[in-house]
Amino acid sequence: MKSYADQLLDFCGQAVLVIDPETLEIEFANVETGVLFECSSETLLGKPITEFETGLQEQCFWEETRASASAGVPRMESTLKTCRGLIRYVVRSVYLRDLDGHSRFVLTLRDISSERAIENLAASAASQLAATLEATTHGLLVLDLDGKIQNFNRRFAEFFSLPPQAGKAKNSNRLLTTIRQAFCTPLSWDAAFGTALRRPDLAQTYTFGLSDGRWVDCAAHAQTLRGKTIGVIWTFTEVTHRMRQQEALAAARDAAEKANRAKSHFLSAVGHELRAPLNAILGFTQLLEFDAIPNQEESLQTIRRAGEHLLALIDEVLDFAYIEAGHIDLHIQQVRIADVIQEAIALTQSLTIKHAVTVLNKDRPSLSPEFVMADPVRLRQILINLISNGIKYNHRNGSVTIQSRMSELPDGAPAIAFEVSDTGIGIVQEDFDRLFQPFSHIGNAKNDDESSGLGLALVHKLTRLMRGQVKVESTLGAGSRFVVELPAG
Ligand code: ADP
Repeated sequence: MKSYADQLLDFCGQAVLVIDPETLEIEFANVETGVLFECSSETLLGKPITEFETGLQEQCFWEETRASASAGVPRMESTLKTCRGLIRYVVRSVYLRDLDGHSRFVLTLRDISSERAIENLAASAASQLAATLEATTHGLLVLDLDGKIQNFNRRFAEFFSLPPQAGKAKNSNRLLTTIRQAFCTPLSWDAAFGTALRRPDLAQTYTFGLSDGRWVDCAAHAQTLRGKTIGVIWTFTEVTHRMRQQEALAAARDAAEKANRAKSHFLSAVGHELRAPLNAILGFTQLLEFDAIPNQEESLQTIRRAGEHLLALIDEVLDFAYIEAGHIDLHIQQVRIADVIQEAIALTQSLTIKHAVTVLNKDRPSLSPEFVMADPVRLRQILINLISNGIKYNHRNGSVTIQSRMSELPDGAPAIAFEVSDTGIGIVQEDFDRLFQPFSHIGNAKNDDESSGLGLALVHKLTRLMRGQVKVESTLGAGSRFVVELPAG
C-alpha cells in the first residue's frame, strides 16, 4: 500500500526519482517515471540512472552536482534513452536533499519531446521556405499594412544594390528611400506603392524603368494568413532584355511602315504618271487604226495590244503594292453569287475567242446558296484572274468550268467555294508552293503579253484579306482546279 505522499507524487505530472549520490542508483521512481521510461517504475529501482543517459554531458552533470552539492542545479535540457531504446527530450532539475537522515538526489524530469518535435518541424519548414525564397530569381519584398519592411530576399538586395548589412538592420524608411531613388520616375513608384497598401486585394503589375537603364516588372499581391490580409508582397523581375527587344521591334516596325508608305506613294505617283501618256498612246493608236494604211494595220494592232497589256500590268502592280502596304480598302458585303460569276465570265469573253476555249457556267443558283460575304469588285477580280488563267493555260478547244457550292473554313465557319476547273496544261505538284508568289512563271506556261506573274499572288492576298482561303489541285497535261473559299453570306 503506497503512502499518501507517494500517491501525490504519482499525480504531480512529471517524473520524480530519488538517487543515491554515491552509486547513482535509482531508489525511488514515481508512476510518471515509468511512463517516461516506457517500463514499470518498479523495474527501474536499483538501476543506475547513467544507464538511461545518452551523453558525456550527463556524466559531467553528476560530477558537478556532487561537487557543488548545493541547494539545486539549474534546469537543463538533455536527452535520455527509454527502456525500449527511444530517445526522449527532457528538462531535468536536481536537488540534494536529506531524506530520513540520508543525503539523496531528487531528480525531476519533464518530457518535452513533442514540443521539440514541433519546434524541429517549424524550424525545418522555415529553413525550407527561406531556401526557396533565396533560390528564386525574383526579388521579393514583404511589407506590413503600414508599409514597413518585414522581409526581403537576397535577390532583392542585389537588385537595388542594398548594402550587405541592410538585411539585418531593415531600417524600413531608409531602405524604402534607397529603393524609391532607383526608379526613373519615383512618383510613379510612390503611386503604385500607395495603391498596393490601400488595396492589397487587387493584384497589380507595373513595368518601371530604373535610373541605371534597367527595366523591371513589379507585381504586388496581398499576403494573407488564415484568410486575413496581413501585408503586401512585391515581386521584382528584371525585363531589360524584353524591353530592349520591344524597342528594337517597334523601331524596325516604324522603319518598315515608313518605307512601305514611301514605296506605295512612289508607286502610285509613278503609276499615275505612266497611265496618262499610255492612255494617250492607246487613244491615238485606235484613231490611227480607223484609217490605217493597209501595211500599217498589223503594227498598229501590236502597239495597241502592248499598250493594253502595259496598262493591265500597271494596274496589277499598283494593286499589289497597295495590298502589301496595307492600304487597300475592302467593302465586305453580301454579294449575289450568280451575278458575280456571270460578270467575270462576260469580262473574259475576248480571251475565250482568242484561245478557242469554252467557258461553262455550271453554277445552279436554284440549288446552291445565293450570297457570299465579299468585296464585289475584288471577288470579280479573283474570278477573272482564275478564269483567264484557265483559258490562257489551256489547249485549243479546251474548256473552263465554273461553279459554286457550300463548304467550310478551317475554323468551322460556313463558306462558299468557287471552283474554276480547266482541261489545260496542268501544274506539277512541286510548283504548287511557288504558284502564289509574285512573278512566278512555272512549268511549260509561256510568258507572253497576257502574263504579268501577279494574278495568283493577288488572288491569294485578296482572298486572305476577305478571310478566305485558296486551294489548288492539278495533274500535268490533264488540267487544274482552283478553289476559292469565302465566308458564306
Ligand atoms: P500570270 O498568269 O500572269 O503569269 P499568275 O500569277 O496568274 O500569273 O500565274 C502564275 C503562273 O502559274 C503562270 O505563269 C502559270 O505558269 C501558272 N498557272 C496559273 N494558272 C494556271 C492554270 N490554270 N494552269 C496551268 N498553269 C497555271
